[in-house]
Amino acid sequence: MGFLKRIENQTLLAILLAVVVGISFPSVVLKFSVIGKAFLKLLKMVVAPLIFTSVFISLLNLKSLKTLERLGLRTIIYYLATTSLSVLIGLLLVNLIKPSAEIGASEIPELKTISLSELFLGLFPENIVKSFAHTEVIPIIFFAMVLALAALKIGEKARPLNLFFGALNETLLTLTRGIIRLTPAGVFFLVASLVAKEGLSPLISLWEYAGTVVLGLAIHGLVTLPFLLYLFTRTNPWRYFLAVREAPLLALSTASSSATLPVTIEVAEEKAGVKPEVAGFILPLGSTVNMDGTALYEAVAAMFIAYSYGLKLTLSQQVVIFLTAVLASVGAAGIPSAGLVTMTLVLQSVGLPLEGLGLILAVDRFLDMLRTSINVWGDLVGAKIIDSWLPKEAKH
Ligand code: ASP
Repeated sequence: MGFLKRIENQTLLAILLAVVVGISFPSVVLKFSVIGKAFLKLLKMVVAPLIFTSVFISLLNLKSLKTLERLGLRTIIYYLATTSLSVLIGLLLVNLIKPSAEIGASEIPELKTISLSELFLGLFPENIVKSFAHTEVIPIIFFAMVLALAALKIGEKARPLNLFFGALNETLLTLTRGIIRLTPAGVFFLVASLVAKEGLSPLISLWEYAGTVVLGLAIHGLVTLPFLLYLFTRTNPWRYFLAVREAPLLALSTASSSATLPVTIEVAEEKAGVKPEVAGFILPLGSTVNMDGTALYEAVAAMFIAYSYGLKLTLSQQVVIFLTAVLASVGAAGIPSAGLVTMTLVLQSVGLPLEGLGLILAVDRFLDMLRTSINVWGDLVGAKIIDSWLPKEAKH
């Protein structure tokens, strides 16, 4: 905790410093831009194996296939429905506000579209080694889920897998913490290079974009989720928030759903009265899969990048953004900046340039904190609602 807080402060300082240095010494900074790129590569390095082990181990921890069947379908429907609502709010707002930043006219790219069937087929791994090699997060999640189902079927015989991937999962999280230590330096070089290249004008116009994301997150977190909580469980949303507030607040300061997970499970079981077998399955899964805030942010950011490049997206292209934003949020790991990495899926789906990510980096840490907080709040509201849907015999 203390360690994460210190990193957080250093990161904020690094961003401020990067702006000053980027403006003052642009040519020097550009020579060192590879350091920022290397940092992004390190983040990507952990994403694929971490998603695999966390999904596999979460499902195995359920121990019985029957529990999984009982919970699985409802959980998946709930997660997809709330995440979709969140993306819809984001898309509506971004179409109304139309935030954009100025970039050079020479960089306008050609738009390409992919069909829905291609998108659907993209969910399944054809060759799992290739999926790992290309960090195809959704196929990796799919593989982890079906492998866990098969392991649950053979029971005791799968115990070595449980031990091995459990240990790998822990080790990967430790490695991730090591990479998080580099965040201040990584962010410094990424932001400084961006400022050196673009100057300060994108930073200023980013407030329109950031404001759109913040407004969307506020509507989802303060209106949609509380409404659903009351509708399905008759729980007073404000009292519920006060009871579980430690988790969304920790998420705000760490920008990591995974780092917050122990606290999320603790408050759900101890303060919100969610059954341990429910919390134990859907909260670990939710910390990786159910990211309402991330999904909203991905859709708004992709549209913002399109507007900045002067591109007008058709309704069907926006449907593709809607679908890939949901998928990209499912594929994002619960670590800082994970959404930024999986955003490439959204951008590529409609042929937007990956360099567009450079436009949003400057405010990304700030938005990461807010969206992670909404991600964890969404997990906790989901735990309460799904718990209330369980048949009585499952609730002893
Ligand atoms: N940091 C977010 C989380 O842990 C993921 C993201 O980057 O959007 O929930």
